Amino acid sequence: MRLFDTLTREVVLLKPVDGKVFRFYCCGPTVYGPAHIGNFRTFVIQDVMRRVLELGGMKTKHVRNITDVDDKTIRDSVGVGMKLADFTAQWRERFHADCEALNCLKPHIEPSAVEHIPEQVAMIEELLEKGHAYASEDGSVYFKITSFSEYGKLSRLDKRELDLGKTQNERANSDEYEKDNIADFVLWKCRRDEDGDNYWDSPWGEGRPGWHLECSAMILKYLGRTFDLHSGGEDLVFPHHENELAQSKCSCGGEFARHWFHSTHLLVNGKKMSKSSGTLYTLSDLANEGWTSMEVRYVLIGANYRKQLNFTMESLHAAREALGRLAKAAKDHAVPGYRELSKGGGLGVFAGAFKRLNEDLNTAAALGELFANLKNARSLEDWRGFFTVLTSLGLTLPEPKGIEVPEKIAKLAECRWEARQNKDWAASDRYRDQLAENGWMVKDGREGYEVLPL
Ligand code: AMP
Ligand code: ZN
Repeated sequence: MRLFDTLTREVVLLKPVDGKVFRFYCCGPTVYGPAHIGNFRTFVIQDVMRRVLELGGMKTKHVRNITDVDDKTIRDSVGVGMKLADFTAQWRERFHADCEALNCLKPHIEPSAVEHIPEQVAMIEELLEKGHAYASEDGSVYFKITSFSEYGKLSRLDKRELDLGKTQNERANSDEYEKDNIADFVLWKCRRDEDGDNYWDSPWGEGRPGWHLECSAMILKYLGRTFDLHSGGEDLVFPHHENELAQSKCSCGGEFARHWFHSTHLLVNGKKMSKSSGTLYTLSDLANEGWTSMEVRYVLIGANYRKQLNFTMESLHAAREALGRLAKAAKDHAVPGYRELSKGGGLGVFAGAFKRLNEDLNTAAALGELFANLKNARSLEDWRGFFTVLTSLGLTLPEPKGIEVPEKIAKLAECRWEARQNKDWAASDRYRDQLAENGWMVKDGREGYEVLPL
């Protein structure tokens, strides 16, 4: 599989650096509320990447963390008067339920930040020892960005922005900030009143780790100093991933991530999602309006991950229609026994669709090929190919709906059948015309008849 690498800005061939298992890390959810469909655009495309790799015969190791201690989780747990652990546990559960509904594979390892405080402290000690960090008067510790000559390479900070950051000689204490606020970033935050009882011991006094540190520490523990790919939404390139890279390379050496995979943010009704404009949809918001998770998933993979994707109600309608068409085609034409994966085997007329996925995860083109070739599918190999492409997209098909015949139409059809039994051809023709006027027809068989829309 080939994928666009944010670091080199080139499409690269993915292969495991150890020659065995493709090891990748995804920044997971911050569990302070339900994840929204934008978050799921990113988690779903990561899931498709893993599925395509595995169906292509590669072994994977997928690590995705849970951010359960940061500015937001602490602020909101204190706000509602809950213990941080209880507060985050409920949102973690909700996240798992949503992932399952969306048919996302579980990561092989899902470490939590709170459970890795000692690893984070150890990394800070390493950075201090090597001269990449310094403690401030209040007991906080900062990363010194001038100590790392490659700082800014991933997010392509230009010289002006970097110079500004260096000359400002400021420190960023909050977890998130913009490029025009480049500064030494915080590794350890000293204890403050607003943190409530959320603090841990460290050589620098009580406090808690800065947000960027958790991923670096957990990556070192579960994937080592050099691993294959790191991923998240485009907002994470700066500062989060830039800072992870700096911390990791400076503390333990190694290459860190060989490739970087970032997805473009989802828009809703053409705009950035926001709570105030009512466009911050969760899965359950959409379920309340009658949409299935599979329909949501279909919309989320409807555009290539590097292109803008605009979520609208029309796109949900189109997804429902498309899934219905796939389900009907499978029901009417698929060769029995087709629900088996063609791992490494032939994909028949759907080989092209799978190829599109292997070319920078072009989900939109793969869906296009899937529909274009439905009419050509005949053999068991073709239909296994169909099932394999669906599985790599993580799509499951709804049961095709039976046709609902209105009572009046059913009655007309029944009268027509009786007239035919009585060999009253004139009456039979009259009923047939009446049915046609209402948009229906009857298909006769030996034992009975079937009523179908015209
Ligand atoms: P968070 O829970 O805020 O840490 O975000 C979880 C993941 O969702 C990260 O990879 C973010 O980059 C990603 N993300 C956040 N907003 C969006 C969006 N509108 N579209 C796509 N991905 C997003
Ligand atoms: Zn991260």
